[in-house]
Amino acid sequence: MTNIAFIGLGIMGSPMAVHLANAGHSVAGYNRTPDKAKPLVDAGGRAAESIADAVRDADIVCVMVPDSPDVTDVLAGEGNVFASARAGALIIDFSSIRPDVTVELAKQAQDNGFRLVDAPVSGGEAGAVNAALSIMVGGAADDFEAAKPVFDAVGKTIVHVGPSGSGQTVKAANQLIVAANIQALSEAVVFLEAYGVDTKAALEVLGGGLAGSKVLDQKKENMLSRSFEPGFRIALHHKDMGIVTSAAREAGVVVPLGSLVAQLMGSALANGDGALDHSGLLRGVERLSGTSTTTKEN
Ligand code: NAP
Repeated sequence: MTNIAFIGLGIMGSPMAVHLANAGHSVAGYNRTPDKAKPLVDAGGRAAESIADAVRDADIVCVMVPDSPDVTDVLAGEGNVFASARAGALIIDFSSIRPDVTVELAKQAQDNGFRLVDAPVSGGEAGAVNAALSIMVGGAADDFEAAKPVFDAVGKTIVHVGPSGSGQTVKAANQLIVAANIQALSEAVVFLEAYGVDTKAALEVLGGGLAGSKVLDQKKENMLSRSFEPGFRIALHHKDMGIVTSAAREAGVVVPLGSLVAQLMGSALANGDGALDHSGLLRGVERLSGTSTTTKEN
């Protein structure tokens, strides 16, 4: 049994913290909005009153918050992890953030006597709920080994992809692939509907051929029923498209399709769809096609 602190009990963090408690670890969870700690408490964990309270006795500190400034604040903010955790604690950042920020935070962690691995995940809410996440890990090999029991409790495909920041680079590539897939699937649905095809039947057969994908399996119902409850919010995917397009630019390579989808994601946000699941990219295709059935009002 390990003492684990878990900061950020949102759509992903909450079920992950619950799995860790169910695996027998002693889990102290902190969430800014306190009522989100209830599932963890129901699973035998403790609701901490602050980040400092959560990390005080922790051997491992897990973080799952939205963006680079949030992780920076959780770790380096006044009275937070670097100021309050036990020397030598291992920090696992599951959040999807900028690779360069991760590298800088890993350096700061080391300077403060901690170890940090970046461990962004893929698999969506379903992956978190079913403890079936793909976890792409950047950091030192021995830190990866030390974090492995935590990864095993929340994930299925767990790969050490390289030094600090590498996990975030792989996650940026993941987000490029997923966004392009969702956009293509959205366009296919609007196209099929324009011809009056039985879209449910069409997606069933498409799912069995080369067009099949996890995106199709996981997102087709959202698209058929036009229900875009998150899941993964468009606002977060917009953040990730910013990460991949700027990292590609810095590396001197081009991501033309990624840049286009980044613009379409930005359009979805500008049209008020930021809080919807990223399968809501479909609404943008409808807006552009003049076939919109799901306006902001309904
Ligand atoms: P979420 O549901 O919005 O949860 C984020 C959590 O972080 C919330 O509990 C929020 O607290 C907390 N938080 C936000 N800013 C904070 C801050 N500055 N300090 C402390 N806590 C803060 O988001 P999510 O979907 O779980 O996503 C979390 C991370 O996982 C993101 O980096 C995302 O890109 C990545 N991810 C998500 C999915 C997915 O399908 N959802 C899949 C893979 C990866 P409040 O409750 O007070 O707002």
